Amino acid sequence: MLTDILQRFRTLTLSVKPLSRLPHISDLVLGSRLSLGATVTASEVPTLFQEPYILSGYRPVQQDWRCYLFSLFQQHNESLNVWTHLLTVPVLLISWWANVGALGYTMDAASLPLSLFMVSALTYLCLSVAAHLLQSHSERAHYFFFFMDYVGVAVYQYGCSLGHYFYTSEPTWREIVGWLFLPGAALLAWLSCAGCCFAKYKYRRPYPVQRKICQLIPTSMAYVLDISPVAHRLLTVSWTHESSLTFHALQIASFLLAAFFFSCPVPERFFPGRCDFVGQGHQAFHVFLSMCTLLQLEALFRDYARRRETVVEVFGERQLWWGCATFPVLLMCCFLTALLTMRYTDKKLQEQNDKNL
Ligand SMILES: [Zn+2]
Repeated sequence: MLTDILQRFRTLTLSVKPLSRLPHISDLVLGSRLSLGATVTASEVPTLFQEPYILSGYRPVQQDWRCYLFSLFQQHNESLNVWTHLLTVPVLLISWWANVGALGYTMDAASLPLSLFMVSALTYLCLSVAAHLLQSHSERAHYFFFFMDYVGVAVYQYGCSLGHYFYTSEPTWREIVGWLFLPGAALLAWLSCAGCCFAKYKYRRPYPVQRKICQLIPTSMAYVLDISPVAHRLLTVSWTHESSLTFHALQIASFLLAAFFFSCPVPERFFPGRCDFVGQGHQAFHVFLSMCTLLQLEALFRDYARRRETVVEVFGERQLWWGCATFPVLLMCCFLTALLTMRYTDKKLQEQNDKNL
């Protein structure tokens, strides 16, 4: 069905303008007659853009930015990666408003972690959409937008930690991990972002296994810590009394499936060239991660509704504000790390261009 929609929008196409010509607002609003170029094979794009076992459906590099923007309505090998996260945004917002109506929500100190979880989820979804939609423009754009994608993932990790700590954790778990949890979660979230940026900067396609290690070790450590209050509660509290626990169990299952598809290029590994548009492991990763986020929101809203009267009393307003104030600080640190890595990447790309001249 999505293919039909994409095909229909393809008729709205335009003619490619030279890159040097800056787009006019009027063109964007009124729609100039740009034509979205046909997709090309893997051998026709630089190695950086070539995905393992994906043989066709690539957008040519160095087109006008609008071509990549409007490629939202074109069929290419990133279409479903874009749409899976783009469609999750309205579904998440509808789910939020439905829960506000059903369970209630007041904007105060007690609801701050829930609001920040929502902000973090929307941030990672939007940055992921931008990365998959615009990265094909050039090598520089590819690096920049994926560094931003890693910022989104780190912020989302911390957003989850806030929700799990303030609404889901049990007193017995807090006696063990206590106040170290949030600083640890913030540090590991930053390390995940820094590790992913470093791995992307350092390793070139075809990526060695070390790249996945740099990405997966800090990200897995962050996940183990972030999910520990949920896992502890699932193991120690009866599921029949609390409706949130089923959603928490499902969010863990969705995340584990997402992690599997992120780590392994299946099923395309077994059918090279057959999953170029539909059926890539990365698309499955997006779907399961989106499901994980939606299930998390359901679970956290239920936990918030149950604990909103006592959360300030249990944690103290000071700890609540400190935990939440760390959120913009972490966002800034990750953003600066991404920009710093971009500076080194620019130098590397410049050296590469000089060598090719
Ligand atoms: Zn992605």
